Amino acid sequence: MAVVRERRHPNLKLPLPDSAADRRPRFPLPLPPTALTTSRPTDVDRLSDLEKLQVLGHGNGGTVYKVRHRRTGALYALKIVQSDCDSSVRRQMLREMDILRRTDSPYVVRCHGIFEKSCGDIGLVMEYMDGGTLDCLLRRQSGTFSEDFLAGISRQVLEGLSYLHSHKIVHRDIKPSNLLVNRKMEIKIADFGVSKIMCRTLDACDSFVGTCAYMSPERFDPDTYGGAYNGYAGDIWSLGLTLLELYIGHFPFLPPGQRPDWATLMCAICFGEPPSLPETASDEFRSFIKCCLQKDSSRRWTVAQLLAHPFVAKERDLMAKMEGLSIS
Ligand code: ATP
Ligand code: MG
Repeated sequence: MAVVRERRHPNLKLPLPDSAADRRPRFPLPLPPTALTTSRPTDVDRLSDLEKLQVLGHGNGGTVYKVRHRRTGALYALKIVQSDCDSSVRRQMLREMDILRRTDSPYVVRCHGIFEKSCGDIGLVMEYMDGGTLDCLLRRQSGTFSEDFLAGISRQVLEGLSYLHSHKIVHRDIKPSNLLVNRKMEIKIADFGVSKIMCRTLDACDSFVGTCAYMSPERFDPDTYGGAYNGYAGDIWSLGLTLLELYIGHFPFLPPGQRPDWATLMCAICFGEPPSLPETASDEFRSFIKCCLQKDSSRRWTVAQLLAHPFVAKERDLMAKMEGLSIS
């Protein structure tokens, strides 16, 4: 998607403020008060401190740049949404900012600053993930990922979801292109434009947000698949599909190369059997995917249960041992 957008806007330029505009005062974005935490301190004071190096990608209405802090030399990713964008795009950006300013987890992309320019453009400074998205990584290496690598990805995404879910945040758009990787092979959850903070336990979730292909059956038909749409369980379904895709190399509900339409996807998700791993995969991995892809959301495993699943628990034990070694 990002590639297509790039072609559509080959000459799109969004200069950072310069000269006169630079001297205008900048105000932190007036975001709604949060019940979760107070906003975290940020380490980028002004947008003008950042020098643009290259475009990293075009998202839904915004552009993401790789930028360098002029004084410290630190690299960041800067997402800019222009003032004249669609109101829904602006709402998504505000929602993403609202969530990222509250979160503080090694498994969630970090926010380093939030700005509103006097012209109305809004900017979000994030930690720079030099490996890009898992989707790009999959296409770059034009092969699939090993089980060991996927166990590592599963553990880290589950740790991220555990953090988010324990703070009543549902992501609602987990997919390969929303998981970022760096050269240390750390995986971080990104892109919170359609996420939601659940204020009450039984908060209704508007179902048709996020990427249709990764939506769980109960989002289309809550009565048949678990009674009600539960955003937490929806994130687990999307994670299962994501891991399956990274293992087989294409979107699991469709043959390679086929572009889905909405109706085909909905029929496949609601009326078809959930996709499963080929025989080449280990029993542990197959079982893990099965636990994520239960069509009935009430039978789908939770984050805590999946973190204890043997497919991921081995990797967790290994990490715990390594941390112990590095402390001693
Ligand atoms: P959409 O979800 O709207 O379809 P998107 O996820 O591509 O689009 P963005 O979140 O705006 O939209 O990101 C655009 C691209 O910028 C991403 O695909 C990714 O390649 C890159 N990107 C975003 N955030 C970062 C980051 N923190 N570090 C490195 N690259 C990033
Ligand atoms: Mg995205």
